Amino acid sequence: MNNPEHIKSEITRLRQTLPTGVELVAVSKFHPAAAVRDAYDAGQRIFAESRVQELLEKVPLLPQDIKWHFIGHLQTNKVKQLIGNVDLIESVDSARLLELIDNISLQRGVVTRVLMQVHVAQEQTKFGWTPQELLDWFRAHHYRSLRATHLCGLMAMATDTEDTQRVEDDFRRVAELRQRILDLCPDLCGFDILSMGMSGDYPLALRHGATHIRIGTAIFGPR
Ligand SMILES: *Cc1c(COP(=O)(O)O)cnc(C)c1O
Repeated sequence: MNNPEHIKSEITRLRQTLPTGVELVAVSKFHPAAAVRDAYDAGQRIFAESRVQELLEKVPLLPQDIKWHFIGHLQTNKVKQLIGNVDLIESVDSARLLELIDNISLQRGVVTRVLMQVHVAQEQTKFGWTPQELLDWFRAHHYRSLRATHLCGLMAMATDTEDTQRVEDDFRRVAELRQRILDLCPDLCGFDILSMGMSGDYPLALRHGATHIRIGTAIFGPR
């Protein structure tokens, strides 16, 4: 059960306390459209979902100026449905998925914005590129063959632990990885986004240069 007052006050509080230039992404997965609406009414415009079906069900129920982000593991057979319905796919975890996104975007005549998901956490998800895989991919300049995809940066999750040193190390590695990629690829434009930090660890992510934080539980309550 969502609490509309809590949603609104938390959105307002977060938006007032975040450094300028940092975007708040409200993670609405498993919460109803009414909860999204409450956040929207408090001024929030960027929302994220982790399942294609759930996202496609919510889109028509809500205002059209919402920017939807996709943050879950994207199965290749769902890409077609997603293209054209999202502002940013944050969770590109393989070269194969990226090629498919590029092909379908080209066919549709749209440009799709994406982030590469990096795997730095100690356990967690098995999804995402390792830093080494990503460096190899960029070093080979594979991004130059993209025709309808804009690589906008990196997304990552830190290790789920009380050990803040460990969490900070994860965020630091992601920020350094972005810089190494920029050094390797001087012709890469607009690779600006560092999407990192969730309800439990976003202050640490901000210290290490997060440009986007993805907050679910702190806004909408437990799932
Ligand atoms: C669910 C989810 C979040 C939000 O996590 P909270 O702890 O609820 O803030 C952020 N990022 C990703 C990739 C998620 O799947």
